Amino acid sequence: MGHRRAFLQHLGLLGLSTASITKIFDQKKKFIPFASSEPMLMCSRGEYWGKKVLNPAWDVLIETNNILDAIETGANVCELDPTDQSVGYGGLPNERGVVQLDASCMYGPTHRCGSVASLENIKKACSVARLVMERTDHTFIVGPGALEFAKAHGFPEENLLTEESRLRWLEWKENMSDKDDWIPPADGVYIKKAKKGGTINVLGIGMKNDVAGITTTSGLFAKIPGRVGDSPIIGAGLYVDNEVGAAGATGRGEEVIRTCGSFLLMEKMRAGMSPQKACEFVLERIIDINGGLDKVDFNVKMIAMNLNGETGVASIEPEDHAAPYASIITSKGYKLISGKAMRSM
Ligand code: ASP
Repeated sequence: MGHRRAFLQHLGLLGLSTASITKIFDQKKKFIPFASSEPMLMCSRGEYWGKKVLNPAWDVLIETNNILDAIETGANVCELDPTDQSVGYGGLPNERGVVQLDASCMYGPTHRCGSVASLENIKKACSVARLVMERTDHTFIVGPGALEFAKAHGFPEENLLTEESRLRWLEWKENMSDKDDWIPPADGVYIKKAKKGGTINVLGIGMKNDVAGITTTSGLFAKIPGRVGDSPIIGAGLYVDNEVGAAGATGRGEEVIRTCGSFLLMEKMRAGMSPQKACEFVLERIIDINGGLDKVDFNVKMIAMNLNGETGVASIEPEDHAAPYASIITSKGYKLISGKAMRSM
């Protein structure tokens, strides 16, 4: 029997539910939870994807009162859409031309989480991550094991590489070096370059003040097979805390992993920092450990929300797929929010 299951069973014998675990810890700590907030959903994209993802997610929240169902519905929209080349079906592949997905899911009331990484041939990676959280005694399943697990839960195996993504990969492959045996087409034309999307974070506070989050991605284009980014790593690409709020990252995952970006952001909010300042704090840390802004040649974007209904968004670069904007939806409707870029235009 797994340690966690034994622990939960032990609590069961004592007549304690998982919800009451929080209360036990409450007695020991000084932190006072934020006041309760109105339901709100947030995602790391601008208006086009923001509305596409958040509108159906909001409908599900209103209908079901289930925050996990709501954010999963939103993230699935992006995963299933082949026009987005950074998430799910149609995502850009690794250096061998194979699409490998990373995703995570975390639920505040139980403080449980689930992740998958290097998952091939399954479109809805975040749904598999949610099942890791809800239907296993583990938190993280990778590669062939993740595929086997997804198939056990009835997910169909499908080719995730679209024609657009294959041609983008072929272009990369054929133009990498003039010393290898791959030759670009005589006219140099492959396909019109698609707009970069970037990983998506979908965060939410539900009707019962329950916080949850999802991060899902196809990771860095042309990555080494098996490379795992920040998206499925709890504390890096995603973190939620039912007494504080939710946080997520997109952009260069290696930098977010080595700073525990989302966890660091959460702890800053717990200590009283606003979500906006906490997003900026994490990026300042990343810039610092790289030796200053002039040494930084990548982008990272952090988004966050707290239980007071405040939000934050910041990115290193002012303009690219991870520019400092995000989307929220509440009972008042959709809203685009913009934050701070650490590098000025
Ligand atoms: N954070 C993702 C990763 O490193 C990539 C991205 O957001 O563009 O895998």
